[in-house]
Amino acid sequence: MLNRQGRPTEAGQAERAAHQTFTGNKALDAEEPLLFEIGRADVSGVDLAEPEGISPRLGGLERRVPLDLPGLSEPEAMRHYVRLSRKNYSIDAGLYPLGSCTMKHNPRLNEKMARLPGFADVHPLQPQATVTGAIELIGELGRWLTELTGMAAVAMSPKAGAHGELAGMMAIKAAIEAKGEGATRTVVLVPDSAHGTNPATAALIGLSVKPVPVRDDGTVDPETVKALVGPETAAIMLTNPNTCGLFEKDIKAIADAIHAAGAYFYCDGANFNAIVGKVKVGDLGIDAMHINLHKTFSTPHGGGGPGSGPVVLSQRLAAFAPVPFVRDGKLIEAAAEACGEEQPFGRITAFHGQMGMYVRALTYMLSHGADGLKQASEDAVLNANYVRVGLQDLMSLPFGEKPCMHEVLFDDTFLKDTGVTTLDFAKAMIDEGYHPMTMYFPLVVHGAMLIEPTESESRAALDLFIATLRDLVMSAKRGEVDRFKGAPYLAPRRRLDETRAARAPKLKWEKPAPAAVEPA
Ligand SMILES: *Cc1c(COP(=O)(O)O)cnc(C)c1O
Repeated sequence: MLNRQGRPTEAGQAERAAHQTFTGNKALDAEEPLLFEIGRADVSGVDLAEPEGISPRLGGLERRVPLDLPGLSEPEAMRHYVRLSRKNYSIDAGLYPLGSCTMKHNPRLNEKMARLPGFADVHPLQPQATVTGAIELIGELGRWLTELTGMAAVAMSPKAGAHGELAGMMAIKAAIEAKGEGATRTVVLVPDSAHGTNPATAALIGLSVKPVPVRDDGTVDPETVKALVGPETAAIMLTNPNTCGLFEKDIKAIADAIHAAGAYFYCDGANFNAIVGKVKVGDLGIDAMHINLHKTFSTPHGGGGPGSGPVVLSQRLAAFAPVPFVRDGKLIEAAAEACGEEQPFGRITAFHGQMGMYVRALTYMLSHGADGLKQASEDAVLNANYVRVGLQDLMSLPFGEKPCMHEVLFDDTFLKDTGVTTLDFAKAMIDEGYHPMTMYFPLVVHGAMLIEPTESESRAALDLFIATLRDLVMSAKRGEVDRFKGAPYLAPRRRLDETRAARAPKLKWEKPAPAAVEPA
């Protein structure tokens, strides 16, 4: 059953959801058992002759019982993994509005460059003289990052945003210890709206966390910070633009209050995508900030690849950067090369970091140029506001109808008395072929829905997304609760017990007991 646009009607969808097949497959969406369920011990993808004349050299310790690994022929193995891969949703499959995560298109040019053998095949233990090009590239990327942020130095090697936070906070701790204040400055201020990695990072290096309440407009009030800061404060960890999608308009005053108390300002730069080329964070009084290359600079992430989180440092902290770092345009690779006042706290990881991500990020920068990077930020903000304006009459904005940065935050007020929750709403989006937005984060907003369309979506894609959400909202308001409560109807799996999956995960396959055989 198709409607006038040639799309399945609700009845048609329900029919498809309910349609049972003999195989359990739904057309191209195959039921995929585990390897253990389809493999057999006597099958192998290779056909090798049984070795002869070999005497075991394990001194009697060789295995006596079968290993019981499931064997598959090559086509069986191939199909298993290809079918699994087709269950993935990815940015290459469709719009991925996961707020805070910046799921933007990964340009294929970046991939092409990263696969050049001179970059892809370098080995971390290769003699330096044979990898000068790769090293030059790391230095060049560091120079772009310090230029874009207006900061004094950048430690290149952290391998994720959270790892960058750790490196930046360790530099802050080293600076505090160098001043002989290690025993007294042990408290980190963290706003209520922060990403969970911020308090986790502070705790991991033995500092305690003092929450900073967010004011009614979703931003941090410098007066609150002034009231909370003291001689025991090591740092504040503040996200800008923040996780409510808003620019912290009093960031300078907050920085001044922190510095006046002798503490440091860590900025979570995961949302740098909104301000590249617009704001030099060095002008805001920030001492350290990580940059998620896998968000802002389009290197693949999530299931798609490793992260990379270089951390830029102010003049006050540059001396403590872990190696390798770029300072004054120069790449310092080993602590022994550091000179003068420099006292790197060591390394945050072995070797130089994620080479493939460096190549992708620098390719992205060079192919966009300074003007292109700035335009990408402007377009990201424009797209988020386009979504906001397209939905604000139907969905509720916790902080009023005012412009947002690169992501727009809704709350669940609009679902009041519909019987539909944020979770139900997100699940119904899956039936419509969309990855849900970020839900229930940030925690300062009830039933939060954080949408980040990114700059890489076309106007047509945004229009369809907006129309889909409008249709869902109106359906909820009409009382069509079934469309939500049972969703997703059309995904390979229905509503899962996520709590049980997290609390009692089944991590091991148990061989089913052989069926009892009736005696003859
Ligand atoms: C993504 C994100 C992080 C953590 O970055 P990872 O690369 O996932 O470790 C931290 N803070 C914010 C605000 C983020 O969006």
